[in-house]
Amino acid sequence: MEKNYHVCTGCGLLCDDIEVESENNIVNKVYTACRVGVAHMKEARRGEADFLVDNKPVDEATAISEAASILKNARNPLIFGLGTSTSETQKIAIELAKKINATLDDTSSFCLGPLAEALIQDKLKTCTLDDVRNKADVIIYWGTDPSDSHPRLLSKHSYFPRGTEKQRGWEEERTAIAIDVRKSHTAKICGNYFFQIPPKGDAEFIDAMIAGLSGKLPKTSYNYPPKKILELANILKGAKFGVMFVGRGLIYSLENLEPLFKLMEILNEKANFHLIPMVSSSNTMGFNENLFAETGYVNSVKFENGTAKHGPEYSVVESLKAKSVDAALIIGSDPLLFLPGSIAKNMLEIPVISMDHCETLTSKHSKVYINTAINGVEAGGSSIRMDRVKMSFEPVIETNHLSEEVILKKIMEAL
Ligand code: SF4
Repeated sequence: MEKNYHVCTGCGLLCDDIEVESENNIVNKVYTACRVGVAHMKEARRGEADFLVDNKPVDEATAISEAASILKNARNPLIFGLGTSTSETQKIAIELAKKINATLDDTSSFCLGPLAEALIQDKLKTCTLDDVRNKADVIIYWGTDPSDSHPRLLSKHSYFPRGTEKQRGWEEERTAIAIDVRKSHTAKICGNYFFQIPPKGDAEFIDAMIAGLSGKLPKTSYNYPPKKILELANILKGAKFGVMFVGRGLIYSLENLEPLFKLMEILNEKANFHLIPMVSSSNTMGFNENLFAETGYVNSVKFENGTAKHGPEYSVVESLKAKSVDAALIIGSDPLLFLPGSIAKNMLEIPVISMDHCETLTSKHSKVYINTAINGVEAGGSSIRMDRVKMSFEPVIETNHLSEEVILKKIMEAL
Protein backbone atom coordinates (compact mmCIF):
# COMPACT_ATOMS: atom_id res chain seq x y z
CA MET A 1 0.00 0.00 0.00
CA GLU A 2 1.44 3.39 -1.03
CA LYS A 3 0.36 6.90 -0.02
CA ASN A 4 2.00 9.96 -1.60
CA TYR A 5 1.22 13.46 -2.84
CA HIS A 6 0.72 13.75 -6.59
CA VAL A 7 -0.11 16.33 -9.25
CA CYS A 8 -3.53 15.98 -10.87
CA THR A 9 -3.48 16.57 -14.62
CA GLY A 10 -7.28 16.67 -14.86
CA CYS A 11 -7.37 20.38 -15.78
CA GLY A 12 -5.19 23.49 -16.16
CA LEU A 13 -4.96 23.98 -12.38
CA LEU A 14 -2.57 21.01 -11.95
CA CYS A 15 -3.37 20.68 -8.21
CA ASP A 16 -0.28 19.33 -6.46
CA ASP A 17 -1.75 18.14 -3.16
CA ILE A 18 -3.42 14.93 -4.30
CA GLU A 19 -3.18 11.84 -2.11
CA VAL A 20 -3.63 8.52 -3.80
CA GLU A 21 -3.82 4.97 -2.49
CA SER A 22 -2.78 2.38 -5.02
CA GLU A 23 -2.12 -1.33 -4.93
CA ASN A 24 -0.85 -3.62 -7.69
CA ASN A 25 -0.75 -0.62 -10.02
CA ILE A 26 -4.45 0.11 -9.60
CA VAL A 27 -5.55 3.44 -8.11
CA ASN A 28 -8.01 2.55 -5.36
CA LYS A 29 -8.59 5.86 -3.58
CA VAL A 30 -8.02 9.49 -4.50
CA TYR A 31 -8.18 12.14 -1.76
CA THR A 32 -8.25 15.95 -2.03
CA ALA A 33 -9.02 15.98 -5.77
CA CYS A 34 -12.34 17.23 -7.12
CA ARG A 35 -14.76 14.89 -8.88
CA VAL A 36 -13.07 15.59 -12.24
CA GLY A 37 -9.64 14.76 -10.79
CA VAL A 38 -10.90 11.57 -9.12
CA ALA A 39 -12.40 10.41 -12.43
CA HIS A 40 -9.19 11.31 -14.24
CA MET A 41 -6.93 9.39 -11.85
CA LYS A 42 -9.15 6.47 -10.97
CA GLU A 43 -11.68 5.81 -13.62
CA ALA A 44 -9.77 6.44 -16.82
CA ARG A 45 -11.27 4.16 -19.44
CA ARG A 46 -8.80 2.13 -21.44
CA GLY A 47 -9.09 1.03 -25.02
CA GLU A 48 -9.24 -2.74 -25.37
CA ALA A 49 -6.20 -3.27 -27.61
CA ASP A 50 -2.78 -1.63 -27.41
CA PHE A 51 -2.12 -1.35 -31.15
CA LEU A 52 -4.66 -1.47 -33.97
CA VAL A 53 -4.27 -1.13 -37.72
CA ASP A 54 -7.57 -1.02 -39.64
CA ASN A 55 -9.23 -1.84 -36.30
CA LYS A 56 -7.40 -5.17 -36.05
CA PRO A 57 -4.90 -5.90 -33.23
CA VAL A 58 -1.27 -5.84 -34.35
CA ASP A 59 2.10 -5.82 -32.61
CA GLU A 60 3.99 -2.66 -31.67
CA ALA A 61 6.45 -2.85 -34.56
CA THR A 62 3.66 -3.12 -37.16
CA ALA A 63 1.74 -0.15 -35.71
CA ILE A 64 4.85 2.05 -35.50
CA SER A 65 5.95 1.14 -39.01
CA GLU A 66 2.44 1.78 -40.43
CA ALA A 67 2.30 5.17 -38.65
CA ALA A 68 5.74 6.13 -39.98
CA SER A 69 4.80 5.07 -43.50
CA ILE A 70 1.61 7.22 -43.43
CA LEU A 71 3.60 10.28 -42.34
CA LYS A 72 6.45 9.62 -44.78
CA ASN A 73 4.08 9.34 -47.75
CA ALA A 74 2.03 12.42 -46.87
CA ARG A 75 2.66 15.68 -48.72
CA ASN A 76 1.24 17.83 -45.91
CA PRO A 77 0.49 15.86 -42.74
CA LEU A 78 -1.34 17.48 -39.82
CA ILE A 79 -0.20 17.00 -36.23
CA PHE A 80 -2.94 18.04 -33.82
CA GLY A 81 -3.80 17.74 -30.12
CA LEU A 82 -1.11 17.67 -27.43
CA GLY A 83 -3.12 19.73 -24.90
CA THR A 84 -2.75 17.03 -22.24
CA SER A 85 0.73 15.92 -23.35
CA THR A 86 3.80 16.67 -21.28
CA SER A 87 6.12 19.45 -22.42
CA GLU A 88 8.73 16.78 -23.19
CA THR A 89 6.29 15.12 -25.62
CA GLN A 90 5.29 18.45 -27.14
CA LYS A 91 8.92 19.28 -27.91
CA ILE A 92 9.37 15.96 -29.71
CA ALA A 93 6.14 16.56 -31.64
CA ILE A 94 7.53 19.92 -32.78
CA GLU A 95 10.74 18.18 -33.92
CA LEU A 96 8.66 15.58 -35.77
CA ALA A 97 6.57 18.31 -37.43
CA LYS A 98 9.77 20.00 -38.57
CA LYS A 99 11.19 16.76 -39.92
CA ILE A 100 8.12 15.86 -42.01
CA ASN A 101 7.12 19.43 -43.04
CA ALA A 102 3.84 19.13 -41.14
CA THR A 103 1.08 21.54 -40.20
CA LEU A 104 0.97 21.72 -36.39
CA ASP A 105 -1.90 23.03 -34.29
CA ASP A 106 -3.81 22.58 -31.03
CA THR A 107 -7.21 23.61 -29.69
CA SER A 108 -5.96 27.05 -28.67
CA SER A 109 -6.37 28.18 -32.30
CA PHE A 110 -10.13 28.31 -31.66
CA CYS A 111 -10.02 28.90 -27.87
CA LEU A 112 -7.71 31.03 -25.75
CA GLY A 113 -4.70 31.19 -28.10
CA PRO A 114 -4.76 34.99 -28.58
CA LEU A 115 -4.80 35.49 -24.81
CA ALA A 116 -1.96 33.00 -24.25
CA GLU A 117 0.06 34.78 -26.95
CA ALA A 118 -0.52 38.20 -25.34
CA LEU A 119 0.63 36.85 -21.96
CA ILE A 120 3.71 35.16 -23.43
CA GLN A 121 4.57 38.46 -25.12
CA ASP A 122 4.14 40.31 -21.79
CA LYS A 123 1.30 42.46 -23.15
CA LEU A 124 -0.90 41.81 -20.09
CA LYS A 125 -0.12 41.97 -16.39
CA THR A 126 -0.42 38.56 -14.79
CA CYS A 127 0.37 36.79 -11.51
CA THR A 128 0.51 33.27 -10.10
CA LEU A 129 -2.25 31.34 -8.40
CA ASP A 130 -0.20 31.54 -5.19
CA ASP A 131 -0.33 35.35 -5.46
CA VAL A 132 -4.10 35.14 -5.88
CA ARG A 133 -4.52 32.98 -2.78
CA ASN A 134 -2.17 35.10 -0.68
CA LYS A 135 -3.15 38.60 -1.77
CA ALA A 136 -6.26 38.95 -3.94
CA ASP A 137 -9.06 41.14 -2.57
CA VAL A 138 -11.12 41.51 -5.78
CA ILE A 139 -11.61 38.52 -8.10
CA ILE A 140 -13.53 38.59 -11.39
CA TYR A 141 -14.64 35.42 -13.18
CA TRP A 142 -15.56 36.57 -16.70
CA GLY A 143 -17.14 34.26 -19.28
CA THR A 144 -16.15 31.21 -17.27
CA ASP A 145 -17.71 28.83 -14.77
CA PRO A 146 -14.80 27.36 -12.82
CA SER A 147 -17.15 25.65 -10.36
CA ASP A 148 -17.77 23.22 -13.21
CA SER A 149 -14.64 23.43 -15.38
CA HIS A 150 -11.88 23.89 -12.74
CA PRO A 151 -13.71 22.80 -9.58
CA ARG A 152 -10.95 23.69 -7.07
CA LEU A 153 -10.21 27.19 -8.40
CA LEU A 154 -12.52 28.84 -5.85
CA SER A 155 -11.78 26.51 -2.91
CA LYS A 156 -7.99 26.11 -3.22
CA HIS A 157 -6.68 29.00 -5.28
CA SER A 158 -8.90 32.08 -5.23
CA TYR A 159 -12.08 33.00 -3.30
CA PHE A 160 -12.36 30.71 -0.27
CA PRO A 161 -8.86 29.85 0.99
CA ARG A 162 -6.87 31.74 3.59
CA GLY A 163 -3.65 33.32 2.29
CA THR A 164 -0.64 34.98 3.90
CA GLU A 165 -2.23 38.44 3.52
CA LYS A 166 -5.80 37.23 3.66
CA GLN A 167 -6.13 35.39 6.94
CA ARG A 168 -9.90 35.75 7.23
CA GLY A 169 -10.53 34.19 3.80
CA TRP A 170 -13.63 34.76 1.75
CA GLU A 171 -16.41 37.36 2.07
CA GLU A 172 -14.73 39.39 4.83
CA GLU A 173 -11.60 40.05 2.82
CA ARG A 174 -12.42 39.15 -0.76
CA THR A 175 -15.07 40.23 -3.26
CA ALA A 176 -15.90 37.70 -5.98
CA ILE A 177 -17.56 39.02 -9.13
CA ALA A 178 -19.02 37.00 -12.04
CA ILE A 179 -19.74 38.50 -15.45
CA ASP A 180 -21.52 36.06 -17.73
CA VAL A 181 -24.45 35.51 -20.06
CA ARG A 182 -26.10 33.03 -17.69
CA LYS A 183 -26.39 32.43 -13.96
CA SER A 184 -23.72 29.73 -13.69
CA HIS A 185 -22.79 27.88 -10.49
CA THR A 186 -19.93 30.36 -10.01
CA ALA A 187 -22.33 33.28 -10.57
CA LYS A 188 -24.58 31.91 -7.82
CA ILE A 189 -21.63 31.89 -5.39
CA CYS A 190 -20.93 35.54 -6.30
CA GLY A 191 -24.50 36.46 -5.25
CA ASN A 192 -25.16 40.20 -5.64
CA TYR A 193 -21.94 40.60 -7.57
CA PHE A 194 -23.24 38.70 -10.60
CA PHE A 195 -23.51 40.90 -13.69
CA GLN A 196 -25.60 39.21 -16.37
CA ILE A 197 -25.04 40.54 -19.88
CA PRO A 198 -26.54 39.47 -23.22
CA PRO A 199 -24.59 37.18 -25.60
CA LYS A 200 -22.04 39.23 -27.54
CA GLY A 201 -22.57 42.09 -25.08
CA ASP A 202 -19.07 41.90 -23.56
CA ALA A 203 -17.35 44.58 -25.68
CA GLU A 204 -20.06 47.12 -24.84
CA PHE A 205 -19.92 46.14 -21.17
CA ILE A 206 -16.16 46.73 -21.22
CA ASP A 207 -16.73 50.19 -22.76
CA ALA A 208 -19.32 50.94 -20.07
CA MET A 209 -16.91 49.78 -17.33
CA ILE A 210 -14.17 52.01 -18.77
CA ALA A 211 -16.62 54.93 -18.76
CA GLY A 212 -17.56 54.15 -15.14
CA LEU A 213 -13.90 53.88 -14.12
CA SER A 214 -13.23 57.25 -15.80
CA GLY A 215 -16.09 59.03 -14.00
CA LYS A 216 -18.39 59.11 -17.03
CA LEU A 217 -21.95 57.84 -17.40
CA PRO A 218 -21.80 54.18 -18.52
CA LYS A 219 -24.18 53.39 -21.36
CA THR A 220 -25.02 50.18 -23.25
CA SER A 221 -27.44 49.53 -26.13
CA TYR A 222 -29.03 46.86 -23.92
CA ASN A 223 -29.70 49.41 -21.17
CA TYR A 224 -27.65 47.84 -18.40
CA PRO A 225 -28.44 49.89 -15.26
CA PRO A 226 -25.67 52.56 -15.09
CA LYS A 227 -25.89 52.53 -11.28
CA LYS A 228 -24.83 48.87 -11.17
CA ILE A 229 -21.87 49.50 -13.49
CA LEU A 230 -20.79 52.48 -11.36
CA GLU A 231 -20.99 50.29 -8.24
CA LEU A 232 -18.81 47.71 -10.00
CA ALA A 233 -16.33 50.39 -11.09
CA ASN A 234 -16.04 51.60 -7.48
CA ILE A 235 -15.23 48.09 -6.24
CA LEU A 236 -12.59 47.64 -8.95
CA LYS A 237 -11.03 51.05 -8.24
CA GLY A 238 -10.55 50.02 -4.60
CA ALA A 239 -8.69 46.78 -5.44
CA LYS A 240 -5.29 46.45 -3.79
CA PHE A 241 -4.67 43.18 -5.64
CA GLY A 242 -7.27 42.40 -8.29
CA VAL A 243 -7.34 39.42 -10.62
CA MET A 244 -9.49 38.68 -13.64
CA PHE A 245 -9.97 35.04 -14.65
CA VAL A 246 -10.89 35.14 -18.35
CA GLY A 247 -12.70 32.27 -20.05
CA ARG A 248 -13.81 31.35 -23.54
CA GLY A 249 -17.15 33.13 -23.02
CA LEU A 250 -15.39 36.49 -23.11
CA ILE A 251 -12.85 35.65 -25.84
CA TYR A 252 -15.49 34.21 -28.20
CA SER A 253 -17.58 37.33 -27.73
CA LEU A 254 -14.82 39.81 -28.67
CA GLU A 255 -13.70 40.40 -32.26
CA ASN A 256 -10.18 41.05 -31.00
CA LEU A 257 -8.44 41.63 -27.68
CA GLU A 258 -8.19 45.44 -27.96
CA PRO A 259 -11.12 46.15 -25.57
CA LEU A 260 -9.56 43.83 -22.99
CA PHE A 261 -6.13 45.49 -23.35
CA LYS A 262 -7.81 48.89 -22.86
CA LEU A 263 -9.75 47.73 -19.79
CA MET A 264 -6.59 46.27 -18.18
CA GLU A 265 -4.73 49.51 -18.90
CA ILE A 266 -7.43 51.65 -17.24
CA LEU A 267 -7.78 49.22 -14.33
CA ASN A 268 -4.05 49.49 -13.71
CA GLU A 269 -4.18 53.28 -13.81
CA LYS A 270 -6.81 53.20 -11.04
CA ALA A 271 -5.85 50.03 -9.13
CA ASN A 272 -3.67 46.91 -9.38
CA PHE A 273 -5.09 44.23 -11.69
CA HIS A 274 -3.83 40.93 -13.11
CA LEU A 275 -5.23 38.53 -15.69
CA ILE A 276 -5.11 34.73 -15.74
CA PRO A 277 -6.59 32.71 -18.65
CA MET A 278 -8.93 29.83 -17.81
CA VAL A 279 -6.97 27.22 -19.75
CA SER A 280 -8.90 23.94 -19.71
CA SER A 281 -6.38 21.21 -20.49
CA SER A 282 -3.39 20.37 -18.34
CA ASN A 283 -0.75 21.58 -20.78
CA THR A 284 -2.28 23.77 -23.48
CA MET A 285 -0.24 26.62 -22.02
CA GLY A 286 2.85 24.42 -22.38
CA PHE A 287 2.08 23.81 -26.05
CA ASN A 288 1.74 27.56 -26.62
CA GLU A 289 4.99 28.31 -24.77
CA ASN A 290 7.00 25.49 -26.33
CA LEU A 291 5.90 26.30 -29.87
CA PHE A 292 6.46 30.02 -29.29
CA ALA A 293 10.01 29.32 -28.06
CA GLU A 294 10.73 27.36 -31.24
CA THR A 295 8.89 29.44 -33.87
CA GLY A 296 7.63 32.73 -32.38
CA TYR A 297 4.01 31.53 -32.81
CA VAL A 298 1.69 29.84 -30.31
CA ASN A 299 -0.29 27.67 -32.75
CA SER A 300 -1.32 27.19 -36.42
CA VAL A 301 2.09 26.70 -38.02
CA LYS A 302 3.25 24.91 -41.15
CA PHE A 303 6.87 23.80 -41.29
CA GLU A 304 8.75 23.96 -44.56
CA ASN A 305 12.44 23.05 -44.78
CA GLY A 306 13.05 23.92 -41.11
CA THR A 307 11.20 27.25 -41.04
CA ALA A 308 7.68 27.87 -39.75
CA LYS A 309 4.92 29.69 -41.61
CA HIS A 310 1.99 30.90 -39.54
CA GLY A 311 -1.58 31.93 -40.27
CA PRO A 312 -5.23 31.00 -39.79
CA GLU A 313 -5.02 28.80 -42.89
CA TYR A 314 -2.76 26.48 -40.87
CA SER A 315 -5.28 26.01 -38.04
CA VAL A 316 -6.88 22.58 -37.69
CA VAL A 317 -10.26 24.00 -38.70
CA GLU A 318 -9.09 25.76 -41.87
CA SER A 319 -6.69 22.95 -42.87
CA LEU A 320 -9.44 20.36 -42.72
CA LYS A 321 -12.01 22.67 -44.28
CA ALA A 322 -9.72 23.38 -47.25
CA LYS A 323 -8.63 19.72 -47.41
CA SER A 324 -5.03 20.96 -47.55
CA VAL A 325 -3.76 18.17 -45.26
CA ASP A 326 -3.50 14.60 -46.54
CA ALA A 327 -2.84 12.64 -43.31
CA ALA A 328 -3.23 13.34 -39.60
CA LEU A 329 -1.50 12.38 -36.38
CA ILE A 330 -3.88 13.09 -33.51
CA ILE A 331 -2.33 13.04 -30.03
CA GLY A 332 -4.64 12.91 -26.98
CA SER A 333 -7.57 14.58 -28.68
CA ASP A 334 -10.88 13.71 -30.34
CA PRO A 335 -11.46 16.22 -33.16
CA LEU A 336 -13.95 13.96 -34.92
CA LEU A 337 -16.17 14.42 -31.87
CA PHE A 338 -15.82 18.13 -31.15
CA LEU A 339 -15.20 19.82 -34.51
CA PRO A 340 -18.26 20.81 -36.57
CA GLY A 341 -19.44 17.77 -38.56
CA SER A 342 -19.06 19.54 -41.91
CA ILE A 343 -15.33 20.02 -41.20
CA ALA A 344 -14.60 16.86 -39.18
CA LYS A 345 -15.99 14.61 -41.91
CA ASN A 346 -13.01 15.53 -44.11
CA MET A 347 -10.85 13.54 -41.68
CA LEU A 348 -12.62 10.41 -42.90
CA GLU A 349 -11.00 10.89 -46.32
CA ILE A 350 -7.39 10.83 -45.09
CA PRO A 351 -5.33 8.26 -43.14
CA VAL A 352 -5.37 9.09 -39.43
CA ILE A 353 -3.04 7.93 -36.66
CA SER A 354 -4.59 8.29 -33.22
CA MET A 355 -2.64 8.16 -29.94
CA ASP A 356 -4.86 8.12 -26.86
CA HIS A 357 -5.30 6.24 -23.60
CA CYS A 358 -8.94 5.55 -24.36
CA GLU A 359 -11.07 4.69 -27.34
CA THR A 360 -12.52 7.80 -28.97
CA LEU A 361 -14.62 8.55 -32.04
CA THR A 362 -11.39 9.61 -33.76
CA SER A 363 -9.53 6.44 -32.73
CA LYS A 364 -12.39 4.28 -34.03
CA HIS A 365 -12.04 5.88 -37.46
CA SER A 366 -8.25 5.80 -37.51
CA LYS A 367 -6.02 3.73 -39.75
CA VAL A 368 -3.62 3.28 -36.81
CA TYR A 369 -4.52 3.46 -33.11
CA ILE A 370 -1.90 3.38 -30.35
CA ASN A 371 -3.07 3.03 -26.75
CA THR A 372 -0.84 5.30 -24.66
CA ALA A 373 0.03 5.69 -20.99
CA ILE A 374 -2.07 8.31 -19.18
CA ASN A 375 -0.06 11.48 -18.62
CA GLY A 376 0.19 12.32 -14.94
CA VAL A 377 -1.11 8.90 -13.87
CA GLU A 378 1.03 6.39 -15.77
CA ALA A 379 3.63 8.73 -17.31
CA GLY A 380 5.65 11.49 -15.68
CA GLY A 381 7.05 14.71 -17.05
CA SER A 382 6.26 18.41 -16.76
CA SER A 383 3.44 20.75 -17.72
CA ILE A 384 2.80 24.49 -17.58
CA ARG A 385 -0.07 25.48 -15.28
CA MET A 386 -2.62 28.05 -16.50
CA ASP A 387 -0.74 30.76 -14.56
CA ARG A 388 2.45 29.76 -16.46
CA VAL A 389 4.09 27.97 -13.53
CA LYS A 390 6.00 24.80 -14.47
CA MET A 391 4.83 21.68 -12.62
CA SER A 392 6.75 18.39 -12.66
CA PHE A 393 5.24 15.05 -11.80
CA GLU A 394 6.09 11.38 -11.46
CA PRO A 395 3.79 8.59 -12.57
CA VAL A 396 1.33 7.49 -9.89
CA ILE A 397 1.34 3.85 -10.99
CA GLU A 398 3.38 1.72 -13.37
CA THR A 399 2.02 0.55 -16.70
CA ASN A 400 2.96 -1.57 -19.67
CA HIS A 401 1.60 1.10 -22.01
CA LEU A 402 4.17 3.23 -23.78
CA SER A 403 4.17 6.96 -23.11
CA GLU A 404 3.39 9.42 -25.91
CA GLU A 405 7.01 10.56 -25.67
CA VAL A 406 8.39 7.06 -26.31
CA ILE A 407 5.97 6.39 -29.18
CA LEU A 408 6.83 9.66 -30.95
CA LYS A 409 10.53 8.86 -30.62
CA LYS A 410 9.94 5.40 -32.13
CA ILE A 411 7.95 6.90 -35.03
CA MET A 412 10.75 9.43 -35.62
CA GLU A 413 13.31 6.60 -35.74
CA ALA A 414 11.15 4.61 -38.16
CA LEU A 415 10.75 7.46 -40.65
FE1 SF4 B 1 -7.52 17.96 -10.85
FE2 SF4 B 1 -8.40 20.28 -11.86
FE3 SF4 B 1 -9.79 19.01 -9.99
FE4 SF4 B 1 -7.45 20.20 -9.38
S1 SF4 B 1 -9.34 21.20 -10.05
S2 SF4 B 1 -8.15 18.17 -8.71
S3 SF4 B 1 -6.28 19.79 -11.28
S4 SF4 B 1 -9.36 18.27 -12.07
